[in-house]
Amino acid sequence: MSEQKAHDTMRAAVLVGPNQIEMREVAVPPMGPGLIEIAVKACGVCGSDVHMWNNGKGGLAADMSDFIMGHEFAGEVTNPGDSDFQVGDRVVFWANLYCGKCDMCRAGQEQLCRYVNGEKYIGFVTDGALAERYVGKAMNAYKLPDNVSYIAAGLIDPLMVAYHAVKQSSLKLHGTALVVGTGPIGYLMGHLLKKAGASYVALSYVSEKRLPFARSTGDFDAYFDGNDLDRAKLMYEATDGGFDVVFEAVGSADTIATALDAVKPGGEIVAVGNPPGPIPIDINRIVLRDVRLIGSVSCTRVEFTETIALIAAGTIDTEKYATDVMSLDQLQHAFERLTSDTDPALKVVIQP
Ligand SMILES: [Zn+2]
Ligand SMILES: [Zn+2]
Repeated sequence: MSEQKAHDTMRAAVLVGPNQIEMREVAVPPMGPGLIEIAVKACGVCGSDVHMWNNGKGGLAADMSDFIMGHEFAGEVTNPGDSDFQVGDRVVFWANLYCGKCDMCRAGQEQLCRYVNGEKYIGFVTDGALAERYVGKAMNAYKLPDNVSYIAAGLIDPLMVAYHAVKQSSLKLHGTALVVGTGPIGYLMGHLLKKAGASYVALSYVSEKRLPFARSTGDFDAYFDGNDLDRAKLMYEATDGGFDVVFEAVGSADTIATALDAVKPGGEIVAVGNPPGPIPIDINRIVLRDVRLIGSVSCTRVEFTETIALIAAGTIDTEKYATDVMSLDQLQHAFERLTSDTDPALKVVIQP
């Protein structure tokens, strides 16, 4: 392992308080056994980053002030440490800090790792990659095929969530599907659902700011206004009785209610959105209609590698979903845009 100079520093975007990013010169984290160092080339900004930006601290309940976010990232290996990587290798990181030892990990269900418990991800419980350099576990890094750009790799994280959700579902060839939510994961699911053989894919929205992008993809056959008091009737009529599968990608009481309005008896709701706390659900609308409600979080380790392969194979062009590519210095502005009521930015990818 090469020696780390004690005074190596890097520029980093530090979350110093609510809605406040400060650019700072900080120490490059030290190398150690099992670690590699990369020069960060792309890092996507996620809805959960917006949540931390609003809170002014990292993803744990404990005080995590002066925090570096960033969990959707790729870069070039600058120090391979004791790993098999070489300097110059292009890699993407999987943010899931799975233990590799528990029963879930041994069963190939690393997204359910007992240690991770739905929350132990890079950029949530450890500093992330919204900085010039990142040092982390080599076991979380995967080589990028040459035809997958760094910007495309900045979308691998939301794509893996979309991919796992579609694979979790019982969608069959010619089935009907509704996506509830107008974020990147919702749109990526829309594309994958068509690729998976759905005959009719619709989108439910509450804000119109990102609808032009959705229309530009051509992935959706119909659009339903979630604010419309007649939404249940309109969706029922359009599908001749309800959708086979509904993907809920927001995580609010009203969007869950939309999913319940949309699903047909005996149909399925895949819950992908994370509400910040408990939300009410009219459980009888599930019980009395044999509706299956299933959760979907992250993806398995194998699915993560398949997500990379999906892009390499041209099944989906994630780069086009990166509506805005910005520099690290513009991160504060990126958050302001993503939280604006009118800005159509869908996905910001930061290039340090
Ligand atoms: Zn994310
Ligand atoms: Zn585990």
